[in-house]
Amino acid sequence: MFILKGINQLTNAIAKAKKVRPRVEFGSFGHYRVSGSKGFYTVICKKSDNGYKTVSCTCKGAEKGLVCYHAAAALSLHIGLARQQQTA
Ligand SMILES: [Zn+2]
Repeated sequence: MFILKGINQLTNAIAKAKKVRPRVEFGSFGHYRVSGSKGFYTVICKKSDNGYKTVSCTCKGAEKGLVCYHAAAALSLHIGLARQQQTA
């Protein structure tokens, strides 16, 4: 799990996601399934009680606190959905 502080943090992961083009499945708002090298990983985006945006993924990299491309792929969908909710 990592805390999302800004988009700069995601640059490398987004570049990788663009190359790998994982499949992102929508579960519910903040809850996604992203295809990876060994099947699907679950990515959860949420706001913690103290206002931090946290992102967790079930892959090995994310366990170590790395920003993985699964999280980047899910976040690009999540941010779009969050915008839609705000403007709705
Ligand atoms: Zn991951």
